[in-house]
Amino acid sequence: MLPVSQAEATILDLVKPLDKQRDAEFVSLLIAIERILAAPAIGHLDFPHWDNSAMDGYAVRYEDVQYASSQQPVVLEIVDEIPAGRSPQQLIKAGQAARIFTGAVMPEGADTVVMQEQTQREGDRVTILTAPQPQAFVRHQASYYQAGKTLLAPGTMLRAAQIAVLAAAQCNQLKVYRRPRVAIISTGDELVHPETPLEIGQLVDSNQYALTALVTQTGAEPIPMGIVPDRPLVLQKAFSKAIATADVVLSSGGVSVGDYDYVEEILTALGAEMHVRSVAMKPGKPLTVAKFSPAHATERKLVLYFGLPGNPVSALVCFWRFVQPALRKLSGLADNWGPAYVKARSRQDLSSDGKRETYIWGQLHLIDGYFEFQPASGSLNSGNLINFAQANGLAMIPMGQTAVASGDEVRVLQFGFPIMS
Ligand code: AMP
Ligand code: MG
Repeated sequence: MLPVSQAEATILDLVKPLDKQRDAEFVSLLIAIERILAAPAIGHLDFPHWDNSAMDGYAVRYEDVQYASSQQPVVLEIVDEIPAGRSPQQLIKAGQAARIFTGAVMPEGADTVVMQEQTQREGDRVTILTAPQPQAFVRHQASYYQAGKTLLAPGTMLRAAQIAVLAAAQCNQLKVYRRPRVAIISTGDELVHPETPLEIGQLVDSNQYALTALVTQTGAEPIPMGIVPDRPLVLQKAFSKAIATADVVLSSGGVSVGDYDYVEEILTALGAEMHVRSVAMKPGKPLTVAKFSPAHATERKLVLYFGLPGNPVSALVCFWRFVQPALRKLSGLADNWGPAYVKARSRQDLSSDGKRETYIWGQLHLIDGYFEFQPASGSLNSGNLINFAQANGLAMIPMGQTAVASGDEVRVLQFGFPIMS
C-alpha cells in the first residue's frame, strides 16, 4: 500500500504532457475557451495603443500651465475637440489647448491633461486654475504592454479574463493543445445500462456516466467504451482497443482480490508496467495504475492506465484525488493541477481507523466567508452512492489520525460549489 502522497508523486511523474507541436491545433477565439495554450500568445498592438487621456478635461502643454493657480490663472485658446474614437485634427501650440474626453487620443504638442473640474470655460477659451503634474492623466502608449512581447505563456488555460485580453489584442487564432482522449470501460458481469430493466442481482453501470461527466468537466474528451463482462479474453480485447485509442484509460471494477478481479493480470499480460497496486486511502484502496510505453520510438507517447475500484464512491474519490490532476498535467496546463483543499470547521465529530488516509464525503457550507463541513447523513460506506448526490466535498483525515472533533479544522477536497448557508 503506497501512502497517498507517494501515489500522487508516482502518478504525476508518469504523466508526460501532450506534445506542443504534434498535439496542438489552431482554433479561433471562442473555440479556445477553457483550452490550454500550446504556444505563447504574442500581440501586435501596444497597450494602450496610443497616448490617450484618462480624464475628461483639456489637453495642454505642461510648460504653459506649470505656474497656474487661482491667483495667476492661465487662459488658453481651445483649438480642437477630441471625443473618444476621433483622431485629433490640430497640433497644440503654445497658448493652446484641446477639449478632450476619457480614452481619446492625445493631440500632438500636448503632453498633459488638466481635469475639467480645475478649469473654467468661456466660449473657445479655457482658464486653468491649478498647475497639474507634468504628464498628468496621460496614459502612455505601450505603458501596459509592448507589442511583440509574450502576452500569455504556454500552459495557460484560457478563461474569461484571458479571452478578453486576447480579443483586445486581436489575437484571433490561438495554438492550443488538443483535448486528451480518455477511454472509459466498466467491468463486471452484474452491470447493465440505465435503460435495461434489472434482473435480480444486477446493477446499473453508473461509473460509466460519472466518469464521462468528470472527464468532460476536466476538459478532456471522454470515449465511453461500455460494459465488459468479467471474462479475461473479452477484457483483454477491450483493454487493447482502449490503449490503442486513448491517451488515458479508466476502467472501473475488477481491481480487488476476488476471483473475478482480472484487471492487473490482464494489464501484465498486455505488457504494462505496474506502478501502483494499492493506496493507503479509504475509500479507494485497490487503485491500480499502469503505464504502456510505445512499442516504437515513432509512436505517440505512453498511455496511462487507471484501474479504478468498482465501488461508485471509490471510483469518484480516486478520480478527484489522482486522475483529475493527471489529466490536467497531460493537457498541457503548466501548474495548479490540484486537487484543491479548503480549510473548514467540522460541524460534527469525524473518525477514521487511522490506518489509511480517510475521505469523508459531505457538504461544504460557506458562512460569512468561512467554510464549515457537514458530513453526509446516513451510511458513509463506499457502496452508498445516494447520499453522495448532495455532497460537494471530501473531508480528509490524514493517516495516523483517528478523529477530528466537532468545531475543529479539517481540510476538505472541494469538488462542487459551496452551499451558502
Ligand atoms: P469490484 O471492484 O468489481 O469488485 O466492484 C465493487 C463494487 O462496485 C461491486 O459492488 C460492484 O457491483 C460495484 N460496481 C462495479 N462496477 C460498477 C459500475 N460500473 N457502476 C456501478 N457500480 C459498480
Ligand atoms: Mg467486479
